[in-house]
Amino acid sequence: MKVYINDKLVSERDAKVSVFDHGLLYGDGVFEGIRSYNGRVFMLDEHIERLLRSAKSICLTVGMSKEAIASAVVQTCKANRCYDGYIRLLVTRGVGELGLNPYLCKKPQVIVIAANIQLYPKEIYEKGLTIITVPTIRNHTESINPNIKSLNYLNNVLAKIEAVNAGCMEAIMLNAQGFVAEATGDNVFSVRGNTLVTPPRWAGALEGITRNTVMRIASEHGYVVREDTLTRCDLYTADEVFLTGTAAEVVPVVMIDRRSIGIGTPGPITRHLVKTFHQFASSTGTPIR
Ligand code: PMP
Repeated sequence: MKVYINDKLVSERDAKVSVFDHGLLYGDGVFEGIRSYNGRVFMLDEHIERLLRSAKSICLTVGMSKEAIASAVVQTCKANRCYDGYIRLLVTRGVGELGLNPYLCKKPQVIVIAANIQLYPKEIYEKGLTIITVPTIRNHTESINPNIKSLNYLNNVLAKIEAVNAGCMEAIMLNAQGFVAEATGDNVFSVRGNTLVTPPRWAGALEGITRNTVMRIASEHGYVVREDTLTRCDLYTADEVFLTGTAAEVVPVVMIDRRSIGIGTPGPITRHLVKTFHQFASSTGTPIR
């Protein structure tokens, strides 16, 4: 495998970061998870724009243009024949001193890894996910804002531990006010009648690229789509619930906190969106070849 690091592609063995990199020492950096489908990178510009917004939020100057970042991603995919895969694009603060001060770090480190995708098993899309709500709450918006995709994912890791320890693959995280924020690595939607509701950014949701695409596709198909606060009760009483994310795409949820959602099997609107999203994602993007 070839990895993009230090402005060039090197073999996996030589792709190393310093122990003084603040990405390692403090989780000081930002990242994106991106998909390629059929030889095209899906929503590359949107991912780069979000990466740069995350970087700006933490006063990190990436030092590469959007075009140069896009080219690094495409070159890495090409070098690894990553035509249907998963790309991790990250920027660390770079090498600094043992103290916190990020301004002492000399140069940010841009890394691109193009790998295989770890998907949910196929049967999950047919049968749906069983999840729980977990005690660990989503970051407060005045803490590490949930819209900063930072390398410090420990809060979500704690929530994931709670999910896995309870035998679940995902979990719903609430915000400090007790409203639904999102899942540990995915956004959440409820469906009632023909109306889809997903929490707004200020409620602790990352502005997911899959989420935004699903919102657009759903309105084009005549569904009503709203951003609004959701309570656990709203999810328990929804006709359908689904999650969205780059790796997961659209995945049905059929049980939350041991309560059946709807009739306990993936509903028609979710199944429709699973299909239409996948069709759209596989038919557009920045060419790799
Ligand atoms: N929420 C969180 C916390 C995430 O890490 C992700 C995955 N990046 C998402 C939502 C989904 O976002 P996207 O659709 O852009 O992958």
